[in-house]
Amino acid sequence: LPVLALHHVSKHYQRGTEDVVALLDVSFELAPGTVTVILGPSGGGKSTLLHILGGMDRPSEGHVDVFGQDISTWSSDQLAQYRRETVGFVFQAFHLIASMTALENVELPLLLAGVPTTARRARALELLKRVGLETRANHYPGQLSGGQAQRVAIARALAANPPLILADEPTGNLDSASGEDIIRLLIALAHEDGHSVVIVTHNEEFAARADRVLRIRDGVLHGDLKQEETAPMA
Ligand code: ADP
Ligand code: ADP
Repeated sequence: LPVLALHHVSKHYQRGTEDVVALLDVSFELAPGTVTVILGPSGGGKSTLLHILGGMDRPSEGHVDVFGQDISTWSSDQLAQYRRETVGFVFQAFHLIASMTALENVELPLLLAGVPTTARRARALELLKRVGLETRANHYPGQLSGGQAQRVAIARALAANPPLILADEPTGNLDSASGEDIIRLLIALAHEDGHSVVIVTHNEEFAARADRVLRIRDGVLHGDLKQEETAPMA
């Protein structure tokens, strides 16, 4: 079963009297254990697509299935639960809390979920170890490099062990060596740990290493290059 499946999803916005089509008839599936890169020019519809995948926004038409369940009809409470339990979000600017240590940042979603202190701490340490930062547990974000801060943010995104990881330009604030580390980590989370990882990026080199590349322009999905390459001839 795919983690997520979009069926003929469109999204319109009203700008004054103008109807803006942000997404038009988009269909694809996200399999577990795969990396999908979304590429496209500014205004092409990438953020809109990410918002729909992340349950922050609903399609105007079409539907979105999560493990075979249509979430297009879910209440805002159900969508909030989906965001907490099914999706891990990684952002360009990390969004760590400056007054909390790396460990406390990773613990935060577990604290909010009511996980008891001992279990929470153990889980957060295990996650910091997964991203190679166990020796930085008591550092504050200001004491970390950009690449390290993004690793903490990824550990935090993994707290609920979500099947889906959505990363919005995760290397946008990093130098190329740190960016490379982050991409390697995200690929490992898919290929080794079985998460379905979606990365929005402008980096063609990263795209070349994804299992699938979805190019989106003017709200329209242009091919799934990796699949076309391997598809049998018609
Ligand atoms: P990208 O992330 O690729 O830059 P977006 O998804 O942000 O593209 O935008 C796609 C199109 O939808 C653009 O024309 C944008 O201006 C428009 N758009 C996005 N969000 C809104 C909104 N909330 N209201 C009106 N128009 C929007
Ligand atoms: P990004 O940094 O991902 O490119 P944007 O600047 O495109 O983000 O959009 C930031 C927020 O503003 C998003 O929630 C998007 O939906 C919204 N937005 C984008 N374009 C418009 C628009 N023309 N009118 C209103 N909201 C918009």
